[in-house]
Amino acid sequence: MVKVEMRIRKVERISLIGCSNEQCCRQVVAAGLTTNFATVNVEVVDCPNLTEDPFHLAGQGLNGSPTLVEIGGPPYLLPTVDYTKLYDLVSISQQALNNTKKEFLAIGAGAGPYPLVESNCEGMFNLKVHANGHVTSESHLARVNPDRRKTVLEKIPNSETRCALLANIFLSEGKPGKVLKVSCKKRIGKKDFIASIRTTLEQHYGERTVGLGGVFLMKKGKAKQHVMSPFSETPIHTEEELNTWLNFFDMSATLIAVGTLVTNECDLDLRLQHFHSFSRHGEGGHYHIDTTPDVVEYEGYFNVGEKIVRVDKPINTHKFGRD
Ligand SMILES: [Zn+2]
Repeated sequence: MVKVEMRIRKVERISLIGCSNEQCCRQVVAAGLTTNFATVNVEVVDCPNLTEDPFHLAGQGLNGSPTLVEIGGPPYLLPTVDYTKLYDLVSISQQALNNTKKEFLAIGAGAGPYPLVESNCEGMFNLKVHANGHVTSESHLARVNPDRRKTVLEKIPNSETRCALLANIFLSEGKPGKVLKVSCKKRIGKKDFIASIRTTLEQHYGERTVGLGGVFLMKKGKAKQHVMSPFSETPIHTEEELNTWLNFFDMSATLIAVGTLVTNECDLDLRLQHFHSFSRHGEGGHYHIDTTPDVVEYEGYFNVGEKIVRVDKPINTHKFGRD
């Protein structure tokens, strides 16, 4: 296991409630999304119970010490894999919460725990740790079968709390409270759901860093998603080689996607957005964009991070493999 070095940055704590001025996050997102979707509704609501159908998260809400935990990065996967990069999400989350022994919910996207299935895989992290230390995991992993034509989605057991290589996690105490609800129908622009929100915030807040995390449902339509192949035996140096190694699929609603987005990299070498989805029908992977813009429907619940915790930032970095 990698001994982790953490750097902490405060981020812009934009207000979700009680804001009636033009700085209001709700109004900013609502106005910006209309360039990309025909129907847009953005509200600040009490978070629904996310443990229930159709969300299937391990914890109820997204409130209490909301934090973006950004772990590792693509340089540990490309051009060649660094097998030493395994991280325990429980101990990292506890450190990010200053070892306060609070219960927490960690949700997000990253590389799955390859030792569990002896194969590289996508991770959909979704675990709650109770105050007594007990873990309830609703995490999944996705991998391709040997001919790379189909994918397999599997539940990760409570006893496996590791991720590998890279992960982008939204950490909170999992409490109920106010969240930003973003509903969109019919895509009329070129941006995916998350890029629409991210670039809208970036345009408004500029240099000030805003980070969000949470869960969204793709309720109708299909989405382009990738699932990585087993680790490559030859180095991957170009986007073309990367796209041959990745496997792309059209996956069907309802998809449940978890992850983070942030409006700029700061000096932390951040990935600006990363969501992985799972489902109740055996499909799951890395979300790129819907492929059925006319019928697509999204419903997302997000909270704003108070800080970014950067874990094991790569020293030698590069900018590919971040789509
Ligand atoms: Zn991914």
